Amino acid sequence: MGRKFVVGGNWKMNGTKKQVDEILDFLKKGPLNADTEVIVGVPAVYLDYVKCNAPPGVEVAAQNCYKAEKGAFTGEISALMLKDINVGWVILGHSERRQIFGETDDLIAEKVAFALDSGLKVIACIGETLQEREAGKTEEVVFRQIQAIANKIKDWTNVVIAYEPVWAIGTGKTATPEQAQEVHKALRGYICEKISPSVAESVRIQYGGSVTGANCKDLGAKPDIDGFLVGGASLKPEFVQIVNARQ
Ligand code: PGA
Repeated sequence: MGRKFVVGGNWKMNGTKKQVDEILDFLKKGPLNADTEVIVGVPAVYLDYVKCNAPPGVEVAAQNCYKAEKGAFTGEISALMLKDINVGWVILGHSERRQIFGETDDLIAEKVAFALDSGLKVIACIGETLQEREAGKTEEVVFRQIQAIANKIKDWTNVVIAYEPVWAIGTGKTATPEQAQEVHKALRGYICEKISPSVAESVRIQYGGSVTGANCKDLGAKPDIDGFLVGGASLKPEFVQIVNARQ
């Protein structure tokens, strides 16, 4: 069975209510390929609003959540709260969380495990920095990041992996389809060997990092690229084109 193409929009810390309405308008207008799973990653403040107003078929993700049900964790949101407002997904381990907010592989793995146990689906982000790539450490880094998660979870059914090279995020320097495919293939090989062949076959691996309407078709044509996680372009109508990259 083929892997369903999955495109996520990561709005990051962007948007006002007016902009959110504009995004919802172009999502409603679409048309969005029914063969693609579409998930928008919304700032916490607007999650409930977007969940209530998104067109049918567009799923909603939080951009983070903590590894506890509730309690004295000022500023955090919990998986249970997300479930309570019918948000089905959460993005975890984004490089901005890792780099700006100091989240470690272990913390991210614990958060992934907790979110899955709570019944959420997870987009788990990994990726190397420019320095790591130039030092020839790309595979070492992404394998380490995947292994940290593998140490804490057993069932990968509700996980989508987002491979996002840090040097490509928000820089306009997209990985070439060949560069991305190479890492996606290596990841699938690692998963096959260290986790299981069936997980390697079924788990979806998105590419993220300066995906646009112009480059999405070539990237999406690669056999191990199963979708995208889109930052900047997810705020613009060209997101529709990216959702439809495989059409
Ligand atoms: P970008 O961001 O598309 O703006 O490069 C991608 C991401 O950070 O998920």
